[in-house]
Amino acid sequence: MRLDWQELFKLLESNDHFIVTCHVHPDGDAIGSLLAIGFLLKKWRKNFQLICSEGVPTVYSYLEGSELVKKERDPLITPQVLISVDCAEKDRCALASEIWDVSGLIIVNIDHHVTNTGFGSLNLINPQAAATGEVIYHLFSKAGFDFDSSVATALYTAVATDTGFFRYSNTSAFTLELVSVLVKKYGIEPSKIAEQVHEQKSYQAIRLLGEVLCTLQVGIGGKVAWMVLDQPMISKYQVENEETEGYVNYARSIEGVEIGILFKELRTNEIKLSWRSSISVDVSKLAANFGGGGHARAAGCTINGPVDQVVNDVLQFVTEYYRAR
Ligand code: 5GP
Ligand code: MN
Repeated sequence: MRLDWQELFKLLESNDHFIVTCHVHPDGDAIGSLLAIGFLLKKWRKNFQLICSEGVPTVYSYLEGSELVKKERDPLITPQVLISVDCAEKDRCALASEIWDVSGLIIVNIDHHVTNTGFGSLNLINPQAAATGEVIYHLFSKAGFDFDSSVATALYTAVATDTGFFRYSNTSAFTLELVSVLVKKYGIEPSKIAEQVHEQKSYQAIRLLGEVLCTLQVGIGGKVAWMVLDQPMISKYQVENEETEGYVNYARSIEGVEIGILFKELRTNEIKLSWRSSISVDVSKLAANFGGGGHARAAGCTINGPVDQVVNDVLQFVTEYYRAR
């Protein structure tokens, strides 16, 4: 995939005030990529702000530089360039929408979502990349940016989390070569990062998982499994949003299941769906039908309506999808 790195280098050279953001409900790829770009701008002695409206999820606070991420931008500084990482749509950028009114703002869109709308003035999108962190690794190679172990940790976290620690089908030979360099050259310890991300769960998050698993159902000829996380459960256990991120994988991991769905009631009549799939189904297309998007194997969307009705409507739609195949 040919990306116009030269155009990006020109923008980096000729501007001084940058703002960097990622997608809402940030994951490891979003935060790792955000910090990696921050390190690059620091090295190039640029003025920059790293913005994520929800802050950095606690699970990623081990990343150096995470304390630099702010929830709101400084209104006294007018940015010249906005760099968006890991975000497929303008509306999903994790910063106040008044940013789009800044006159003359140049938008650089660095991403790997196949559903990316190309909202940037410059779009550096590689849907073949396992993670945005992988796209940024390319950028660093092209720029000859010799980074250090903090950057390597951010990139490793980005790539590891988006590949399910190298289990998903987006894991390529290049992904493994890249992480091999991070381990060999920068001393990254994969076991430590895996422990930070996966072995520090709160007691409450595991108890809540127990309740969510009790809602698990399988249908549509054993091909689809789904679970519900509703508001009463959320308020009972009070766990951070990202702690529930992995729940959907239990649905997907059942033998014979091709699609796993978690229905999460964000608030009354607002249901967030996490879709996960095996090799035979592209869930980004199914999520797109409901105004969402993502990747072939992991996608999301939000649907308005009572949870029971949303579950019924979605299962009806998936039934039709299988009937039409
Ligand atoms: P998750 O289920 O973990 O929230 O999201 C899975 C993937 O789908 C991520 O890559 C995420 O960025 C994307 N995604 C989640 N929700 C939405 C959505 O509402 N719209 C779009 N375009 N992508 C989404
Ligand atoms: Mn990503």
